[in-house]
Amino acid sequence: MIIDFHAHITAPAIIKQRDEYLVRDAWFRDLYANPRARLSSIEDLLAAMDRASVQQAVVFGFGWRDMDLCCQDNDYVIEAVERYPERLIGFAIVNPGSGAAAVREIERCAKAGLRGVGELMPDGQGYRIDDEKTMAPIVEVAADHDMVLLTHCSEPVGHLYPGKGTVTPDEVIRFARLFPEATLVCAHWGGGAIFYELMPEVSRVMSNVYYDTAASLYLYQDDIFSLAARWAPGKVLFATDFPLITQERFIPRLRAARMPAATLRRILGGNAWRVLKLGTSVG
Ligand SMILES: [Zn+2]
Repeated sequence: MIIDFHAHITAPAIIKQRDEYLVRDAWFRDLYANPRARLSSIEDLLAAMDRASVQQAVVFGFGWRDMDLCCQDNDYVIEAVERYPERLIGFAIVNPGSGAAAVREIERCAKAGLRGVGELMPDGQGYRIDDEKTMAPIVEVAADHDMVLLTHCSEPVGHLYPGKGTVTPDEVIRFARLFPEATLVCAHWGGGAIFYELMPEVSRVMSNVYYDTAASLYLYQDDIFSLAARWAPGKVLFATDFPLITQERFIPRLRAARMPAATLRRILGGNAWRVLKLGTSVG
């Protein structure tokens, strides 16, 4: 069973009127002003999953600053999971900076069957993930509905690229200290936070933190797969950042990593199964 933990889908209305949305959201413009940056529909994603024998994917829209746009994207994700409940697991996009409106939207999405909140985009949306006042209501409502949180993260070093932000390992570790019970998935290896799990005092704090491999092919040498699997085999979640990278391109690179077959199975799907509590019904 292969689960891609990080795939973006975009409603056809937004794909068609891309230029209009480039004006409406500065972070979206940073990422998608380049016409070569792809946007994909539900059908595009399912076709790509089929080509790579990927059974399931965690899907979400874009982390808009404007809550109305978040709701619009969530409607499309809700439609996706209603149409393909066996294939797609939906997460809700919200801007935690909008307070009660974000909490209400998470509740609406939970009732509609979504299983997590994310991808949070603190830089584009205008808050910090280690700001207790902003994040406490989000963490609380997510916990009430047994939802996972997923945040965009970036490396504090290295090359610049569109979307490189300030959610770096120190910030993620502060979040985990503030909310030790919250299940948090850090995208893009937590901007390197996974390396600090080698410090015992950090790994103690991070017991409910997981790391996805989204966009890894653009960030790290493939050695990272087998290295991280040595000390965090239960914490690594295969993820592409589709449509940025297809499953068909990513999976052979992961399979080529030297690690025990059982560990590879956990990374490709077993860990996701456990984090999302698949196989149990969530009310
Ligand atoms: Zn991201």
